[in-house]
Amino acid sequence: MSATRPEPVAPASAQPRPFLPFTRPFVDEATIAGVADVLRSGQLTTGPQARALEAKLSEHCGGRPVRVFNSGTCTMEIALRIAGVGPGHEVITTPLTWVATSNVVLEVGARPVFVDIDPVTRNIDLNRLEAAITPATRAIIPVDLAGLPVDRDRLYAIARRHNLRVVEDAAQSYGSLWQGKKIGAFGDFVSFSFHPNKNVTTIEGGALVLNDEREAKLAEQYRLQGVVRTGFDGMEVELVGGKFNLTDVAARVGLGQLAHLDEFNAKRRELARHYFELFGRPENQDLGLRLPVPDFTQSNWHMFQVILPEERLTIRRAEVMAQLHAAGIGSGVHYPAIHLFALYRRLGWKPGDFPQAEYAGRNILTIPLFPAMTRADAERVVTALAAILRRHRKA
Ligand SMILES: *Cc1c(COP(=O)(O)O)cnc(C)c1O
Repeated sequence: MSATRPEPVAPASAQPRPFLPFTRPFVDEATIAGVADVLRSGQLTTGPQARALEAKLSEHCGGRPVRVFNSGTCTMEIALRIAGVGPGHEVITTPLTWVATSNVVLEVGARPVFVDIDPVTRNIDLNRLEAAITPATRAIIPVDLAGLPVDRDRLYAIARRHNLRVVEDAAQSYGSLWQGKKIGAFGDFVSFSFHPNKNVTTIEGGALVLNDEREAKLAEQYRLQGVVRTGFDGMEVELVGGKFNLTDVAARVGLGQLAHLDEFNAKRRELARHYFELFGRPENQDLGLRLPVPDFTQSNWHMFQVILPEERLTIRRAEVMAQLHAAGIGSGVHYPAIHLFALYRRLGWKPGDFPQAEYAGRNILTIPLFPAMTRADAERVVTALAAILRRHRKA
């Protein structure tokens, strides 16, 4: 791939090492030229590029209807509206996700119901899911954290048994597989995000995979002011829609990204493998880090996240991040447990409600992983992190 950094002209040791962020999008020159063409075309907002992107995404998703939007967040809100979820209803999800996942439930007037995570997968614990279902439950929003897919067989078995809709928050799992099937190519609603941190980007944007043309029509209405056009001058409005359409400029970026999907994800997988090899070395065995599930067949490796052993350290995560930063290494938190945010505490949640998500929320750390990174970058990260953890180990 042409995204690797240029080789240093002097020996590496003589060069200041550039800051390594935890992620960085890669946009190729052909895409930049394509965007310039769109800008010159006079057709800037939703048009042929957005339709071409929908067609490409639909191809990836086994021919199912796909519509694009200006965020991944609004796709989930719209899916809930199409499913008829609203006041008086409950929607089950995980507390360890980007807050958009549960905010959309509040947005449509329903109540989120959190189920704690499985500490190994860090996804919603399917063993606890059924106990959270009540007569008010209408839908489940599973999240594939870091791109590791939730067990779709068990999930859909539960959904069918209780007659629930599913809105897959696959924001992080475009290109992931479940038992050889592409995420998005099966199931109920599937929502993707194309935020710049995701494996493929439209700058800001998202897509929703739907079940049939009726749902796709509704999605189009919710996308733009509820408007339905017919003929040259026909216009009707039957529902309250928003302003969620994707521009052609953004769609052109997305088309350029999709051409690299397999190559990006293969590179991510290779780097993830290297991380396991590095953390698995004898000298790193005693760090006490919890590593992610070593899945090399299904995950798109959207992120590589370790969980710090807080009981064995004299410093908290923020200090670990500060010391990594001082060593020229970026890191991130994905995510604090949602139910402890002020908004959610006001709605009744409290510390202790979901101990596994709370522990992960305090200690999870996203370390650098993106396609243009090198194996040497990964080595630098592990060396720096291991040194920090050793320096601040409890006696
Ligand atoms: C990125 C993300 C979203 C929201 O996507 P936006 O495009 O930023 O609106 C939702 N859920 C998860 C898990 C995400 O990672």
